[in-house]
Amino acid sequence: MDFPDARDRLTWRRPGGILGPVKMPPHPPSPAAASDPFGKELRYLPGVGPHRAELLSRLGLRTVGELLLSPPRRHDDRRERAAVIDLREGQTATVAGRIADVRARRISGFRHLVEVFVADETGMLAAAWFNQPWLADKFVPGERLILTGKVEVWRGRARMSSPEFEILESEDEAAELPDPGRQAACEPSYAELAFGRLVPVYGLTEGLGQRFMRRLVWRSLAYQADAWPEPFTKDFRLGRQLASMPEALRGLHFPEDPAHLAAARRRLAYEELLVLQLVLAQTRRRLVAQGAAGSFPVSEKLDARIRARLPFKLTAAQDRAVTELCRDLAGAEPMNRLLQGDVGSGKTAVAAYACLAVIAGRGQTAFMAPTEVLAEQHHRTLSKMLAGSQVRIAYLAGGLPAAERRRLIAAIAAGEIDLVIGTHAVIQKEVRFRKLALAVLDEQHKFGVEQRLALSRKGPAPHVLVMSATPIPRTLAQAYYADLDLSTLTELPGGPRKVTTRVVTPKSREKVWAFVARRLAAGERAYVIYPAIAESERADLAAAETGFKELSARFGRAKVGLIHGRMRPDAKRAAMERFRSGATQVLVSTTVVEVGLDVPEATVMVVEGAERFGLAGLHQLRGRIGRDRARGKAWCICVAGSLGGEAVSRLRALAKTDDGFKIAEEDFKLRGPGEFLGARQHGLPELRFADLGSDGALLALAKRDAAAIVDADPELVASEHRALGERLARLAAEQKSRAGVA
Ligand code: ADP
Ligand code: MG
Repeated sequence: MDFPDARDRLTWRRPGGILGPVKMPPHPPSPAAASDPFGKELRYLPGVGPHRAELLSRLGLRTVGELLLSPPRRHDDRRERAAVIDLREGQTATVAGRIADVRARRISGFRHLVEVFVADETGMLAAAWFNQPWLADKFVPGERLILTGKVEVWRGRARMSSPEFEILESEDEAAELPDPGRQAACEPSYAELAFGRLVPVYGLTEGLGQRFMRRLVWRSLAYQADAWPEPFTKDFRLGRQLASMPEALRGLHFPEDPAHLAAARRRLAYEELLVLQLVLAQTRRRLVAQGAAGSFPVSEKLDARIRARLPFKLTAAQDRAVTELCRDLAGAEPMNRLLQGDVGSGKTAVAAYACLAVIAGRGQTAFMAPTEVLAEQHHRTLSKMLAGSQVRIAYLAGGLPAAERRRLIAAIAAGEIDLVIGTHAVIQKEVRFRKLALAVLDEQHKFGVEQRLALSRKGPAPHVLVMSATPIPRTLAQAYYADLDLSTLTELPGGPRKVTTRVVTPKSREKVWAFVARRLAAGERAYVIYPAIAESERADLAAAETGFKELSARFGRAKVGLIHGRMRPDAKRAAMERFRSGATQVLVSTTVVEVGLDVPEATVMVVEGAERFGLAGLHQLRGRIGRDRARGKAWCICVAGSLGGEAVSRLRALAKTDDGFKIAEEDFKLRGPGEFLGARQHGLPELRFADLGSDGALLALAKRDAAAIVDADPELVASEHRALGERLARLAAEQKSRAGVA
């Protein structure tokens, strides 16, 4: 049985009902008629209509499938509805009653109290909220209210402090009464959905209420839960103690008890982890099956020749990474390695080593960076390193004149270039290598998985080395990067940097500039960073430009430079060059310097709007200063406009430690994996149900199962894997439409 379509609406809808009583189809949907829940649009459901459909789509909910897989924010335990007279101190209870009085007042100088008195048939209960004065406006005497919380006794009266609450919409009152008509239509009354059970509380948007959402979800469950395509056989499920899909969907929204909810979450978490691991396992398998674009053993003699080209002796950590990487390059399988290490840990040298090893074996190499600034810097570094050698280097970026670009592309295709350094331009369709054997991606978190794969497709599976200055917490690495081997640079050449980090409010700005002036007088240089999350955001750009004007007025026009993401590349380059040479001593910048500059004289960094940055981002920025140990101290000054609770703990964590891994873990804890990596950046689906902090065992299980499934049936064509295969196909299609990469 399917949803009624729009034509049936008139007969399905009864007067008076937004999601009012509706007759169920005569036969409940049978599991055999499994149909695609993602093909059923919510707007055709009775009682939804175009307006509500639009509101739902703002929540990312367009289909029944999306709705049912979108978990409520929480559940309120309203299994027991207590009468006020029966409340006992210390008990957690749910009470429903009418608001008798609302009082808001200031107590003891700086504390604020909102008190609401709620009466049921048996007595009066108080509810108290501290320091949330805005709540007072929410409560209107005469309205009905449900409270769930812990009972205390205050001045002889039962009271709840900061209980969960729900104000009943006016229709709800009627809905609380049994409704014979509804019962006949085999749909529960609203009272049965919202009381006497664990009640889901959904994330809402203006115009959509809990009542509507609960009924919509309930109705969708009734239509769809049993018909949800089940990707696992019964044996498979039982062996892993996984709930069935109908059980899980019901338990996710309207669980019978907390155990039901936990079982539901576990089932859904397992499935999403499995899908993720299948994607990774398949990717890996395809790469391995293609065979490497060549094996490149490094003899002792070659090793010595390469090292002679490097301007310094490698650190022990770099040596370890080189050893790991040489083992990969010599093998028959293509290397797929992530090199992670803090800003300044010397990843470039390790990458250069890899390139030279491959070039010595007559393979072509590509070295890709996310910004032109960084690509140019790599080009400069490597050209210097290879001066006087026979290695043919080319620089390929967006802004090249057409003729030169054509000439370069032809030379790359003819195999006349050994090392191509550039930006995204390197993975564009027209660029064909004669024999691409190694691809290096710097700052890999800026690239999506899709781009990484696009690069891998450029030849017969080149070796791939990706690099990141944002260390990835262990569980996250296992979940998202299972297809990568990991090398880590654990030390900085020259020892730890001495960067002092301070968090100040805008009030101290005057003092900050005075301090900057003193450092400049001592021959040092300063960055002033403005947030520009998307460079197109006008307001951000305007802030940087205003800052530039103010600082020019203060320090002298000639001494201050400006650089931002929307400048033309040559203008950017010129500004950068003036700062590097010391012609300007203050560089006002949006976050483009994050990955760009290496200027030893820079000792001060002022970050405006610091509360808007992620921890890892700030840590990376800070890595730009204090690079020259001989100069001693460096200062990172975070100017934070609004110091909300989360922003404070974030900035404090940053001030406390210089350990990139600790910071990454902290960031991960505070912001979760999605925010941490940025859904678009890592290009893989966000985890909704799994919690990488506590689902380690489930992840391990999913990983093992994924490996076994892909071993037995690589393309997931066997009948028992078909549903999983379809899930993956849908995922891939979504990603393609998002990434838009050749
Ligand atoms: P990142 O890991 O941030 O990319 P870089 O590769 O840019 O770091 O290296 C940071 C700085 O450290 C560069 O100036 C580089 O020349 C220097 N460097 C790298 N390795 C060593 C080493 N083994 N000894 C001394 N200096 C090094
Ligand atoms: Mg680098």
